[in-house]
This record gives sequence, C-alpha cells and structure tokens, in this order.
Amino acid sequence: MAKIGFIGLGNMGAPMAANLLKAGHQVTGYDVNAAAVTALAVAGGTAAASAAEAASGAEIIITMLPAGEHVREVWLNQGGLIEAAQTSGPQPLLIDCSTIDVASARTVETAARGAGLEMLDAPVSGGTVGAASGTLTFMVGGSEAAFARGTPILQAMGKNIFHAGAAGAGQAAKICNNMMLAINMIGVSEGFLLAKSLGLDWDKLHQITTTATAQSWALSNYCPAPGPVPAAPSNRDYAPGFMAALMLKDIKLSQAAAEAGGVPTPLAAHALEFYQAAVDAGDGAKDFSVVFRLLSQRKRAAT
Ligand code: NAD
Repeated sequence: MAKIGFIGLGNMGAPMAANLLKAGHQVTGYDVNAAAVTALAVAGGTAAASAAEAASGAEIIITMLPAGEHVREVWLNQGGLIEAAQTSGPQPLLIDCSTIDVASARTVETAARGAGLEMLDAPVSGGTVGAASGTLTFMVGGSEAAFARGTPILQAMGKNIFHAGAAGAGQAAKICNNMMLAINMIGVSEGFLLAKSLGLDWDKLHQITTTATAQSWALSNYCPAPGPVPAAPSNRDYAPGFMAALMLKDIKLSQAAAEAGGVPTPLAAHALEFYQAAVDAGDGAKDFSVVFRLLSQRKRAAT
C-alpha cells in the first residue's frame, strides 16, 4: 500500500481521498480550509499543516485544486510541491487531478521533469457522486511508464482509466468533455421547460427520454429539473456537485483553445453566456445545473 500526499480536499478531493483510505493507502492531506483537513483526519487520514508537509515522505503526491493558478502556485512556488517532492525520499509520482488549461499542465510537468520527477495530468469526469462511489473516469496525460505506475492508485478512485497521450493530453480530453457537457445541460433544461408548458409530467418525460435518443449523463444522472433524479443537485436547491463558477472556468478554457486553434464552436460560445449569467446572478457557488432555474425565470422574447 502506498504513502500518499493529497492536496485539495474539496467537493471532489475529500471523497477521492476517502476512497484511497478505504483501499488501504496511507493518506496525509492538506487544504487551505482547515475544516476539510479535520474531516480527512476523522475519516482515518493524517492532517498536514502545509502542502509540503503532506508531500513529505510520500510515494505519490496528488492535487485536486480549483484552477490553473492554484496548481501553478502549489507545485511551482518556492517551497512548493516540486521542491518538497525532490527531498521527500524515493522519487514520488506526481498526479494533478484538477481541471486546468493545457499550458499550465505542461508547464508544471516540464518543471517536474526538470527536477527528475514523473508527472501525470489526470483530470476526472463523474462528478461528486462518481468521486464518492469510486467510479470516476480518469483522462490521463504523461509517459507510458508514469501511466503504468499511476494506474493502480487511480483505480482506487475510478472505474475507467484512459491514457489520452503525452503530457497535457488528459486536460485536452477533459476540456472537450466539459464543453460538450456544458452545452448538453442547457439542452436538457430547455427540454424540461418545454415539456412543462406542454403539460407533460417530468417523471414521465425522464422515463421516456432516458431510453430514447436524447439520453445523456446530464439527463439520466443529473437531471436539472427537480424531481426525476432524487440524488441530483436540483433536489437540494442546486447545492454542488460541480459549481457553476467551475463550469464557467472550463468552458472559457475550451473557448480559449478553440480560438487558438481557429475551431468554430458557436454553441459553446453561446453556452458560456448562460454560465456567466448564472455567476453574475450570484449562483457561482451553486451547481452548474442551476442554469435550468435561470432559464425558467426568463421570458421568451416576442417573435
Ligand atoms: P472545490 O472548490 O470544492 O475544492 C477545491 C479545494 O482546493 C478547496 O477545498 C480549496 O480550499 C482547496 N484549495 C484551494 N487553493 C488551495 C491551496 N493553495 N492549497 C491547498 N488547498 C487549496 O472544487 P471541486 O469541485 O473539488 O473541484 C476541484 C477540481 O476538480 C476543479 O478543477 C474542478 O473543475 C474539477 N472537477 C470537479 C467536478 C465536480 O463535480 N465538482 C467534477 C470533475 C472535475
């Protein structure tokens, strides 16, 4: 069993670390939010007072942080994780599971390689439910050797572990996935709003469409209309889950990449406006499926 340092114990990191503990690994964790560190200790892990302390003596160091700036800060700054990892004993494998821009992922991996360390970008899909049940999908970028070394650890937190390619490829796959999800969530929301105006029962619509061609993860597991999926954020006043502010970050990443590559993504550009509106309305800390509520409050412009 491995000695693991885990930094970033939020909505995703906490249940992921809990699954590593369940699998018999030793987990030492750190988060700027002291309550999250205490919760890890209660779950059987060890509390650390800094990221460097969590990394000390670890064979595997994992981060699950909000965005690229946090990942660069935690790994690269003086006294940061790469420096700590160099002195932590047997060359640890570094794994960043956050969703960040490809450039930041490659910058951190290059710095790790310069320090003689292997690093994987391994963002996830499956939401907090997948994190809790250990059924996440991991999209991994990095060398074949690092992937082989990291796979048994990732298997304690996920069901599908894909090697997407070289460093940054995991983030590239994740950005494409979330761009599709962001658009799809709005499509599902529009379907349920239209159904209501047509007098259709939402449970019936859900039953039918989840076995018809509109089937999708957002519809089946995460229905934005309250009712049909009891575990969905829509049934708890859109408590996250996956925050609208994080989805806005991801769709912005997709648009920056699309612009750089000259790729037409007009629906994603329009979807971005909805998540921006949700954040501007003060719903940034709500689940991203809150776009349903936002839409339901709008009136159709006269045609
Ligand atoms: P979160 O905000 O709940 O958790 C992030 C944690 O990082 C917080 O507890 C925060 O206190 C901590 N943190 C921030 N800066 C830190 C620092 N410098 N040192 C130590 N800890 C620090 O976010 P989340 O929902 O857990 O998402 C984490 C990442 O996973 C994001 O990149 C997100 O896009 C991605 N993601 C989230 C979901 C989801 O459903 N929530 C799904 C897939 C991917």
